[in-house]
Amino acid sequence: MVSGNRSDGVNRLMRAEVIAIGDELTSGQRLDTNSQWLSQRLEELGVAVMFHSTVGDDLEANVRVFREAADRADIVVCTGGLGPTADDLTREALAACAGVDLVLDAEVLEHIRRLFARRRREMPERNRIQAMFPRGSRVIPNPHGSAPGIEMQFARENGSSSRFFALPGVPAEMHQMWRQTVQPNLLAILGDQRRCLVHRTIKCFGVGESDLEAMLPDLIRRGREPRVGITVSRATISLRITAAGSSPEACQGLIEPTEATIRTCLGNLVYGDESDELQDAVIRLLAARNQRLATVEFGSGGLMAHWLTEADSTRQTYCGGWVLPDREDSADGMIRVGQQCRQQFQSDWALVVGPFPDSDANGGEPGDLHLALLGPGDPVTRSVPFAGHPDLLKHRSIKLALDLLRLTLIQSL
Ligand code: ATP
Ligand code: MG
Repeated sequence: MVSGNRSDGVNRLMRAEVIAIGDELTSGQRLDTNSQWLSQRLEELGVAVMFHSTVGDDLEANVRVFREAADRADIVVCTGGLGPTADDLTREALAACAGVDLVLDAEVLEHIRRLFARRRREMPERNRIQAMFPRGSRVIPNPHGSAPGIEMQFARENGSSSRFFALPGVPAEMHQMWRQTVQPNLLAILGDQRRCLVHRTIKCFGVGESDLEAMLPDLIRRGREPRVGITVSRATISLRITAAGSSPEACQGLIEPTEATIRTCLGNLVYGDESDELQDAVIRLLAARNQRLATVEFGSGGLMAHWLTEADSTRQTYCGGWVLPDREDSADGMIRVGQQCRQQFQSDWALVVGPFPDSDANGGEPGDLHLALLGPGDPVTRSVPFAGHPDLLKHRSIKLALDLLRLTLIQSL
């Protein structure tokens, strides 16, 4: 039995490690998508992935990585290095790590011979190695490939153990073997200890991440249950609550009070949840009021129009807009062009994003970004000091504009 209950008596989640093997990964030639896939599957089973390791095709390096993983993870899933060529070292490394020899599995050898026979070829002698397994290990069948996987257990000095599943690198084979063999075996190992994990993501905009964290009462502290993680993507902040429990309902029960605390502390900084973007929130608010929006943007190449078009799936709310070249313009100019746009599209609102200030022309000093919102009431304008990495500026300025509209809509209720 693999230990999930440590001697400290804390019934904690199983910890897993994913190991990706191959020079093509460590050299940057190929992106390691297998680790992502495996981590998602492990999470679905309530197994927390604590480590990702990537290692090249080198026996000693593989043995070292395996030793470390056996020491620190209850479940280890490896991918790659099970092929027949000299650079495929996973089975040797596993045997060396456990201090056992490789033994031939006659049934697997027959399976490999049959695979070749079906393709009217003789099995090359090299492929015999794929029928060799570390003594004491179990075969993970690979119906469509010549490289079966390997399941084995490593005992630790303290009496607990770590369970390894080695799978081929070819994604389609790996997926099938996971579903057919690894997942059912893992479920059996987890047994009563199986925990489910539920995530809830709350999306925020309007302050920096450290200011936002300071508004929350110690929620992001390590070791807290449920866990709250904070990530930022182009000025949008995501708070992800993760609860572990015996059932989805139990997890939900753990998440609710934390979510309520977050919403109370952050108020209108919260604009949505899960995969919501600001434009989704804006379209929702407008649709609920049966109002329509047109836009003007300078120098953004139509990014705001693109976002709003995608968000407005029913095509009832976003009327379209003007995409203009980046040129110098004033706050008054923003209002004028906004009024013209609102008239032309017969919309309730016109949202204007001014040109991006050119900090080079300003001697490195940040310039101001001008925003204007024309609607049923008085024109609203904002001038925001604007600096940052050029890759982020475009997204941030459009998000600032959408947020101006969002907050105006909420307050005008
Ligand atoms: P076999 O040699 O029998 O195909 P293997 O276990 O030796 O299996 P590798 O040789 O390491 O697997 O990889 C085979 C192919 O699988 C690679 O060329 C690559 O296309 C893909 N692959 C391997 N590892 C990964 C990974 N971590 N992420 C995505 N693709 C991968
Ligand atoms: Mg390989």
